[in-house]
Amino acid sequence: MLAKEGIRGMILDTAELGAGRANFYAKLPGTGGGRAIALVHHMDVVTATPKDWTVDPFAGTIKDGHVWGRGALDMKGHGIIQLMAFIALKRAGVPLTRDLVYVGNADEEIGGLGSRTFIERHPDLVKEIEYVLTEGADTRVEKGKVRWFGIDVGEKLAWWKRMVVKGTTSHGSVPLGDNPVERLVPALNRILAYDTPIRLTPPVDRFFKAQARDATGQERIWLSDAAAALETRRGRAWLLSEPERNALLRTTITPTVLKGSDKTNIIPQEASVELDIRLLPDEDTVAFRRTLERLIADPKIRLEPIGDVAPPYSAPLDTEMFRALERVAGRMLPGVPVATPISAGASDRPYWANAGPICYGIDPYLVELEESRYSVHGNDERLSLKNIEFGLRLYVETVMEMAGGRNGGTAERE
Ligand SMILES: [Zn+2]
Repeated sequence: MLAKEGIRGMILDTAELGAGRANFYAKLPGTGGGRAIALVHHMDVVTATPKDWTVDPFAGTIKDGHVWGRGALDMKGHGIIQLMAFIALKRAGVPLTRDLVYVGNADEEIGGLGSRTFIERHPDLVKEIEYVLTEGADTRVEKGKVRWFGIDVGEKLAWWKRMVVKGTTSHGSVPLGDNPVERLVPALNRILAYDTPIRLTPPVDRFFKAQARDATGQERIWLSDAAAALETRRGRAWLLSEPERNALLRTTITPTVLKGSDKTNIIPQEASVELDIRLLPDEDTVAFRRTLERLIADPKIRLEPIGDVAPPYSAPLDTEMFRALERVAGRMLPGVPVATPISAGASDRPYWANAGPICYGIDPYLVELEESRYSVHGNDERLSLKNIEFGLRLYVETVMEMAGGRNGGTAERE
């Protein structure tokens, strides 16, 4: 498609990614007024069970004003919207001051191998990029009302640990005083009794302020000034009562896998517990580790890492791109607040951001919360043609704000 438009695309990293897989890169050169903007998506999707769908999940059927198929929302549809914007800008022949880059990555759904390979193998291409726009936002539409437009600026850091203690195995009937279970349980209890500090980060504060806009009464007051609410007993209790909000206000420590003996009358050689720890994006991992060790207070208990830890990711709010997105959202969705959620889940953004670019997650469409809940990674995923038009406009206008050679003030008045 790009070749037909006179744009050279590059299929990359085929050997590293394996059969049938690749990364993709293309560029519209700018006149050199600034560093590149990259429209980035992942090309892979999760699986689908055809019998649970009302259409073939891999046919891309257009029906009832929607494109139906696995990936329509997560995130082939988003990638196609980016491609349409890329081609539209080329066809319009608008001289862009910045380079515009289009990237498709493989394998986001299974650990980000595609983006990690791309970043590692093409530092020259990554170095040119100042901003990455990709998935990850939480624009909220409920009962036809757009409650907020999300610019996602962070991700909590999955910092998984295993607490392990060794002891002396023996018969349960004659305890020797070196049972690892008896050492592990009190240490785990000390961790569970610990209230991780509540910390209102600027993006979360902004996110709550956006939620306040259509709240009422006391809740509106608490959401619009969460810092003050957290100082009061009732305000604090209310803010923390919703699990999603609680998770945005603090690091969480959740014990999940617990292992000791597999027989009642055997004292095991070793006992362990796995902790699903989710750090706030800007948490100091060294200091947090010290806190954990202080709580454990037992030199025989080791803390082992589980899996790879992604780099921390947190995007600044005070950037040209953020302001451009705010202006475009303001024009397209008058009166709708811009919110800055951070995500408790994981995406490719930490890898990109760690390599230099400032990354934002956006939804280039307005999809009912209910609908995305059942269809993303579920069944009958679909994207309306109206939303494709919306997304195309959102991307084209954002690129024009950033690289159209006008300053934002002029664009705002148009
Ligand atoms: Zn995705």
